[in-house]
Amino acid sequence: MYIRIDKTIMEQFPKKTYDEFVMNFFEYPDEPIKIPSIEEMVSALKTSPDNYYITYCAYCKTPGLLQAPKKRNPKEDPSPCGMCGEIDPIYKLFSTLNKVKLFCDISNEIKNLHPDNCAWLMHSRDIERILFGQCVISIATGCEIFFKEVYCVFMNEIFVRPDKDLYDYFKKRVENRFVNYGKISDDYKDALGIDLKKIINSNNSDVLYLMFQIRHILVHNNGIIDKKFIENNKNIKILKERGLSYSKGDRYIISIDDLKEFEMNLMKLITNIQSEYHKIFLNVAIERYNQHP
Ligand SMILES: [Zn+2]
Repeated sequence: MYIRIDKTIMEQFPKKTYDEFVMNFFEYPDEPIKIPSIEEMVSALKTSPDNYYITYCAYCKTPGLLQAPKKRNPKEDPSPCGMCGEIDPIYKLFSTLNKVKLFCDISNEIKNLHPDNCAWLMHSRDIERILFGQCVISIATGCEIFFKEVYCVFMNEIFVRPDKDLYDYFKKRVENRFVNYGKISDDYKDALGIDLKKIINSNNSDVLYLMFQIRHILVHNNGIIDKKFIENNKNIKILKERGLSYSKGDRYIISIDDLKEFEMNLMKLITNIQSEYHKIFLNVAIERYNQHP
């Protein structure tokens, strides 16, 4: 994660950290310099071409300092951790969602290439089916990885001593557990005290449940509905509301509305989890940066 260094953050630095930051800012001059006051540093930061950030890798618990041009926003364009190469789990998911938007645009562009040609339209419908299928697989997999990694970094941060790292241990324990939305919800509540059901209502979680079910038939049954899919989704309201009834052996037709709905519900969850995530890591990151030799 990234915390932009401003007045409030500098006020939280012990003298040693502050001096070190100032030296870094002035690129370690050969001659000793008079350390400027916080107010002086605030104006120096204002006129600097760069912003400065405290970074904290939630995976390997490494704190650091990042200097980035003001026009670049590391939250949108994050740097991988220099120690372990990981990028924040939230940005991994954002980049998956951007990829999905691109797939939808490509599909639309293909359809509009020859709008009056029937054969082309049939062909573009096949392309759309394949691309939309890939979109669901990407979103569901991105979502699963996000919940798995956030769970493991939280566990590693909350329950493990700062100098120890049990991230891989937690990851091994979770394994494929999070392919199931119900289990994600239970584990978050029991271990982390985060009640996902409070964050999104049952209708929203139905949507995510359906998304995992569709991924399952795409991956395991070529997108064809089987007995288990019918059984698992008989109470899903959004299918009923749309008047969609499916039989065994039908292909599940993924629509652009499905994709929008998956994305919307996921964004709602992520935004709320992100604030929990920042609450925990904000203080930890400053503390670790201050302790950094
Ligand atoms: Zn790292």
